Amino acid sequence: GQPLLEVRNLKKHYAVRNSLGKTTGYVRAINDISFTIYEGETYGLVGESGCGKSTTGRTLLRLVEPTSGEAQFNGNNIFDLNRKELRGIRKDLQMIFQDPHTSLDPKRKVGYSIEESLIINGVKSKEERKRLVTEMLVKLGFNENDYNRFPHEFSGGQRQRIGIARSLILNPKLIICDEPVSALDVSIQAQIINLLKDLQKQLTLSYLFISHDLSVVRHIADRIGVMYLGNLVEQGTTEEIFSNPLHPYTKGLLSAVPVINESSEREKIEITGEIPSPINPPSGCVFRTRCPFAFERCSQESPAEIHVGEHRSVKCHLYDHK
Ligand code: SF4
Ligand code: MG
Repeated sequence: GQPLLEVRNLKKHYAVRNSLGKTTGYVRAINDISFTIYEGETYGLVGESGCGKSTTGRTLLRLVEPTSGEAQFNGNNIFDLNRKELRGIRKDLQMIFQDPHTSLDPKRKVGYSIEESLIINGVKSKEERKRLVTEMLVKLGFNENDYNRFPHEFSGGQRQRIGIARSLILNPKLIICDEPVSALDVSIQAQIINLLKDLQKQLTLSYLFISHDLSVVRHIADRIGVMYLGNLVEQGTTEEIFSNPLHPYTKGLLSAVPVINESSEREKIEITGEIPSPINPPSGCVFRTRCPFAFERCSQESPAEIHVGEHRSVKCHLYDHK
């Protein structure tokens, strides 16, 4: 497919101040990351909580303003758009959040929550809006009377399906899904993942799928980016990441995921210790305080992103054979 979203050198840094307003440190929430999402594909962004993956999604939606970088989407740099222009691209760029309970207004009929975007986007006829919303509800397995029900009348999985209906109503190209199944029971997770995959095929959607759970991402992503302390430390196809992880952090994450039917020869790496604070992170490689392979250079120099294949990159001195 064609590139749909091209994120280049995205950074989000901010100062931490004490109660007297004095700057005491800097958080490098996102530290110079670049990735591309192609039409019709799912790009999985994985990493532990606090690694910057949600912040990345939120900058693309301009819920958080980036420090620098670009995000080309539909011929525009998202970060250059003013409020009015942003509303214009919202049609093509939608989101699904972790907790549909808090993202749906409890006092509003769910049909109205879906209809709202149509109103904002200028669909004037009430009959037309009602028809589109009803059609979407039916497509996602509800019946027309569900329009008039309230969020609390639905289960968690149903509420997430309503969230999906809402994200689809304007016929978007890209949906940013931030931990969309993390709040759900495992059996429901699989249903939602399968639904997202079916919808993707029917509607040629692309997803940026953000999750801390590699085993979930494995079921939906075509390609994966692994984040650690604001850095994109490895990228590859899902197949490559699982069969041949390169970065020590990726190897460690995978060692913690139970594997079925896979050569058990894969190197097992145990990551010890805690994630360092993102305020004043370690010098050199941000992973060095937990890396079993760290050597002298790792504390002195931040590793560059080394491209080792068409869609494959790794940020680690071990792969720098210059
Ligand atoms: Fe480990 Fe050094 Fe590679 Fe960082 S650069 S992951 S510390 S070997
Ligand atoms: Mg998060």
